[in-house]
Amino acid sequence: MRLTKFTDLALRSVMRLAVCDDDEVLTTREVAEAMDVRHTHAAKAITRLQHLGVVEARRGRGGGLVVTDFGRRASVGWLVRELEGEEEVVSCDDPPCPLRGACRLRRALRDAQEAFYATLDPLTVADLVASPTGPVLVSLAGPSPR
Ligand code: SF4
Repeated sequence: MRLTKFTDLALRSVMRLAVCDDDEVLTTREVAEAMDVRHTHAAKAITRLQHLGVVEARRGRGGGLVVTDFGRRASVGWLVRELEGEEEVVSCDDPPCPLRGACRLRRALRDAQEAFYATLDPLTVADLVASPTGPVLVSLAGPSPR
């Protein structure tokens, strides 16, 4: 099982935002810099996180991105499922496999995929940023002076 780069970036972004305190509010560009990725890639990931209710943008002076209470409590398994979508671990349709209609391997792989997600279900975003990960996240490039 391999996560898409999009999912990985979204997870890293929400983890970075989750360690911000009241004095540190990051913009999408600052998250991109902290993650060392293109702004457009970070923007897509953060937009998806906003649609999921995990991150919200606060406007006005001192505004920026914040993780919502829901986002902090969100199950990592749920979040990864949402970010990965319906994609299976094997492509049976492109090109079409003649076994598609009666394949026990496909069923087994779907079960294995679900087991992978189920392992992540008990973890929350807040769990992911506990020490030693949190302090390292904080040390990544932060906001530029305003
Ligand atoms: S053998 Fe089964 S799992 Fe593999 S591509 Fe064909 S239908 Fe899918």
